[in-house]
Amino acid sequence: MANEGIGVDLYEMRPAAKSGAHKTENFAELVCSNSLGNLDPSIAQGFLNNELLENGSFLIKTALECRAPGVDSLVLDKELFSKKITGLISGKSEIKIIRREVQDIDALPCIIATGPLTSKALSQKIAADFGSENFSFFDAAEPVVAAESIDFTKAFQSPRFSLRTATSCREDTGCIYCPMNSQEFDDFYNILTSAPRVELKPFEDTAAFFKSHPPIELLAVLGKDALIARTLPPLEGNARALVHLRQDDMHSGMYHISGFHSSLKWGAQQKLIHSIPGLAKAEILAYGVTHKNTFIKSPALLSETLESRTRPGLFFAGQIAGTEGYSEAIATGFLAGKNAACFIKGRPFYKPAAGSMAGALARYISFSGHRFFQPVKASWGIIPPTVSPPCCRC
Ligand SMILES: Cc1cc2nc3c(=O)[nH]c(=O)nc-3n(C[C@H](O)[C@H](O)[C@H](O)COP(=O)(O)OP(=O)(O)OC[C@H]3O[C@@H](n4cnc5c(N)ncnc54)[C@H](O)[C@@H]3O)c2cc1C
Repeated sequence: MANEGIGVDLYEMRPAAKSGAHKTENFAELVCSNSLGNLDPSIAQGFLNNELLENGSFLIKTALECRAPGVDSLVLDKELFSKKITGLISGKSEIKIIRREVQDIDALPCIIATGPLTSKALSQKIAADFGSENFSFFDAAEPVVAAESIDFTKAFQSPRFSLRTATSCREDTGCIYCPMNSQEFDDFYNILTSAPRVELKPFEDTAAFFKSHPPIELLAVLGKDALIARTLPPLEGNARALVHLRQDDMHSGMYHISGFHSSLKWGAQQKLIHSIPGLAKAEILAYGVTHKNTFIKSPALLSETLESRTRPGLFFAGQIAGTEGYSEAIATGFLAGKNAACFIKGRPFYKPAAGSMAGALARYISFSGHRFFQPVKASWGIIPPTVSPPCCRC
């Protein structure tokens, strides 16, 4: 917006108000990992980063200048990165930085990009304006696997829950099942109960949330029968337990593993998922999480332009809009900024190209047909099947 000569009031609550995770008052502080992922365009994250660079993203351009020595990916010196970005923003005459917590949404046009740790007052305001059913304070995302990597000689798809119909066929019915016999279930249970977990942060007061959405490792503590009854009901047939996978995208390319949200470390999740019959070679597109994450139910609230469906001139971007990850936040920030500029200048809204990852993210988070919506990362599963991932190795 500033590059188009539009004056911007940029509100940031730090340092007076704390988010719980940020340590400095700088912009673009990477709160955890120092990586913006890959640059290889044959990997979804790398494809997105290249796309952002081609579109002139100053964040990705600066990230390239702050790469750790000797690495090909976007592993950054994160202190240098956030200092440089803070300098660039502070040097823009069109941007007025206001260090204050926003508690209301009174001036439009406006972009809300307050992230996974949006302050309490603003969270309450958004929930009050758009309905508490359209606002989440925690994320209990289940792991997602690529459909093409499932072994359908062991898994099966059936709308009628009948193990007797188990065959190697794969129809588009929205659910896939992986039956486990007693030995397979015991092995799975042993891996689950000995798996290491991620330490929760002090601001992640999860007790109440875990009560209503217990992660799989907490159910396992209650014993094998409780785990089977709550997460792996065999429904019918001879299986001891049945893993249920549900369609996660518009094109049957991605399936999430029902009830497998967890705080297990990613390596442990991989071992656990690969121990399931039919998923031994599953490509894991996203890992399960249970963490503090403020986000709106964007499929009910946003259009593809990231503008509110009911309040013209109000845009959402970043993690609060329903994406997950640094580059995804940059992509939706870029799109919301472009469209806020179009709104102000009375131009038609900007829509990214059909085969672009930014466009796919915007379409995914604004698609009203989701049965279960969880924040999404860049992945090939959200791009329409007519667009093939580029092959850069041939
Ligand atoms: C603990 C933790 C670890 C994470 N680790 C990773 C990781 O390793 N890799 C990854 O890709 N992603 C990670 N994420 C997700 C990551 O936060 C997002 O990918 C990305 O930072 C989101 O960008 P954003 O601009 O939407 O939000 P943020 O980067 O959080 O920026 C939002 C800004 O808004 C400010 N703010 C909030 N409320 C108000 C208010 N009311 N008024 C004014 N200012 C306000 C905040 O202080 C903050 O500066 C992590 C998230 C958390 C919480």
